[in-house]
Amino acid sequence: MPVQARKHPLRNITVLSLLCAALGLAQLAVAGPPAQVKTQTPGYFRMMLGDFEVTALLDGMTKIPVEYLKGVKTEEAQRTLERVFAPSDGGMQTAVNAYLVNTGANLVLMDAGGGSFMGPKAGHLLEAMRAAGYSPEQVDAVLLTHGHRDHLGGLVNAQGEAAFPNATLFIGAPEAAYWVETDPASQPQDKRPRFELARKATAPYKAAGKYRTFATGDEIVPGFTVVDLAGHTPGHCGFMLRSKGQAMLVWGDVIHSHATQFAKPGIALEFDTDQARAVAARKRVLADAALEGYWVAGMHLPFPGIGHVLKAGGGYAWVPVEYAPLP
Ligand SMILES: [Zn+2]
Repeated sequence: MPVQARKHPLRNITVLSLLCAALGLAQLAVAGPPAQVKTQTPGYFRMMLGDFEVTALLDGMTKIPVEYLKGVKTEEAQRTLERVFAPSDGGMQTAVNAYLVNTGANLVLMDAGGGSFMGPKAGHLLEAMRAAGYSPEQVDAVLLTHGHRDHLGGLVNAQGEAAFPNATLFIGAPEAAYWVETDPASQPQDKRPRFELARKATAPYKAAGKYRTFATGDEIVPGFTVVDLAGHTPGHCGFMLRSKGQAMLVWGDVIHSHATQFAKPGIALEFDTDQARAVAARKRVLADAALEGYWVAGMHLPFPGIGHVLKAGGGYAWVPVEYAPLP
């Protein structure tokens, strides 16, 4: 008996599906694909640290020439960057972050980004802050890790007015002495703009009687203690935040090049005021962070720049925070 050829039961469905798909494609082709949106997500990230609500704010990014890495041959640094997929054409990409903390009693901003002094790739702190649900008028304290332009430029708007009109500005005493109180005219011509900017950015706070200096160990706002990290600048510091048994060190510029300096903390930066002291501070704080296991937040770590430090090989590794809903 001849075997009857049986139609596969899915055959008709397949033909139908193909027909529908073809029709669908035809419809899409008529409407055309949507235009690519080409905007990024709002530049903020949020987590809780005990009772503190911590919001990382992205001011933007900048690029640092690879040749600015000191204590390593440029070719070797270049090879390391390539190995870890860190793009370095036109310089190493470096985030510019700031951190806003709502303690329940205070709204504290640590560093203010570059404002209008770093070109269009930075200076977006206020946009990020508004997207995160806060306004600059609500900030009551601004704490500076140091006086470089990517940290204090955003203290003022383009007209030189205070960007945080209700805030008191806090700066380390050695940092204030170096950047704010030094007469720019006493400095070499090429360095004067940095000193002039520090004066300009702090001036409206001084004029309003809202300018204070602090020392290592001071508790500026309840739960915020000053940690000495001098070397990158004469008064470079961090802030240790503690709430309900949790801790986070907001460490300013301990790391500029995450791709090289975690593994090799002996690498310094061209613009460290005292490179040996900056290296010593980095080694000290990396060892402590790895041992104690507290959170770290860094102004130049890949956004949001929050995570933990691990001991790895002869150096250290970075473990970034993961996205999680807030409790
Ligand atoms: Zn910096």
